[in-house]
Amino acid sequence: MKKNLIDRILKRKWTPELISKYMGNIESSWLAYSLDEEIRQNAASGGTITTLFTYLLEAGDIDGALVCTTEVEGNELAPKYKIVTTREELIAAQGSKYIETNFAHDAVPLIKEFSGKLALALIPCDTWIVNTLRKNNPEVDAKIKLTISVFCGHISEPALSRLVIKKYKPAGLSLVSFRHRVGHWRGKTRYKFEDNTELEKPFSAFSDYQNLYFFCARKCLHCNDHTGYLSDISVGDVWLQSMKDNPIKHNAVIVRNKQAESILLDAQQKGKIYLQSVTNEFIADAQARSLPMHYNVSARVKAGKLLGINISDPVHERVRLVDFLIAYTILLNYRWTTTVRGRLELGRIPKPLIKLYLYALKALEVL
Ligand SMILES: Cc1cc2nc3c(=O)[nH]c(=O)nc-3n(C[C@H](O)[C@H](O)[C@H](O)COP(=O)(O)OP(=O)(O)OC[C@H]3O[C@@H](n4cnc5c(N)ncnc54)[C@H](O)[C@@H]3O)c2cc1C
Ligand code: SF4
Repeated sequence: MKKNLIDRILKRKWTPELISKYMGNIESSWLAYSLDEEIRQNAASGGTITTLFTYLLEAGDIDGALVCTTEVEGNELAPKYKIVTTREELIAAQGSKYIETNFAHDAVPLIKEFSGKLALALIPCDTWIVNTLRKNNPEVDAKIKLTISVFCGHISEPALSRLVIKKYKPAGLSLVSFRHRVGHWRGKTRYKFEDNTELEKPFSAFSDYQNLYFFCARKCLHCNDHTGYLSDISVGDVWLQSMKDNPIKHNAVIVRNKQAESILLDAQQKGKIYLQSVTNEFIADAQARSLPMHYNVSARVKAGKLLGINISDPVHERVRLVDFLIAYTILLNYRWTTTVRGRLELGRIPKPLIKLYLYALKALEVL
């Protein structure tokens, strides 16, 4: 009851123009989760992406799926793109990887070389690369059957993962695996060490820094695409207080064309996925803090001018004082962690202070 009230207080007024600007073209909007218990339990959110890929593989509609995995090499995270062809490999690749990758260098050759039909899991900016690739290569275009974009706040430089690994890794023990968002709501980060011991820390031990834009990847400062305008399907979380006590993590799903919608409905009919039709406004409410802030590159352009950070403006959005203050804070934090000194100093700041700072930024974001 109290949580519904919080959602009502935070509710924004969405017009069709705002929805289209922030989320792009929408055929239909859904709440979804996987009906496959193993996939759902192992997922970043509701397991919708992995369930759709598994369904298409098992139906013979695709021969492989491009996914992003993280391996650990010398106590450092090493993100890797792979084209996988089995359910087991799809499950092993589940979870969100918040670390910077080089899609053009590492994933595009895999897509070009693969000879069968493909589905791709992408972050929004990589849908832009795939789109250009498809336009220039009809044979690549013909083999891509489905593109799914995750919603994306931003990604971080490897140095952020290094900072949190350093905090929690016992001396003399090597890290062998690392996984974010295990379990309910925002979930936990799970570390596994060479002696088979495991450690779980709240995801916030990483995300508090991330949400303050410390170590943010430079390209994200220029980006206005939160949901993947160019994908067939976009999948994210449902950040509504009323969902917090729901034992099942749900996905917010945007379907962008009829063909993708029929894949989703077929998967539902075959008992693979739970689907509930929702309004586009519901999806916008579930991303209410992020959408306007992510889109408003103009605010970052203005704040960047004061801080000596050159950002180009694709949107020419109105910038209120509060937008400017948010952008200034984000860029200040970004710039601080581009310096060696800033990185060292950040690591010494007590965690409760970081938390307080984040709450202050979040308070601005709801205005
Ligand atoms: C960098 C990043 C930022 C995100 N920010 C937000 C946000 O601000 N708001 C929000 O609502 N949701 C965000 N998400 C999406 C959310 O965390 C889930 O990934 C999404 O809801 C899909 O959940 P799922 O349970 O269906 O995925 P799963 O079944 O766990 O499958 C996830 C699939 O995505 C692939 N994948 C993971 N990371 C990457 C990557 N970096 N590049 C390409 N493929 C990848 C995995 O290999 C896997 O195939 C973000 C995800 C990422 C990767
Ligand atoms: S915020 Fe934009 S540029 Fe950054 S990773 Fe996400 S989609 Fe790519």
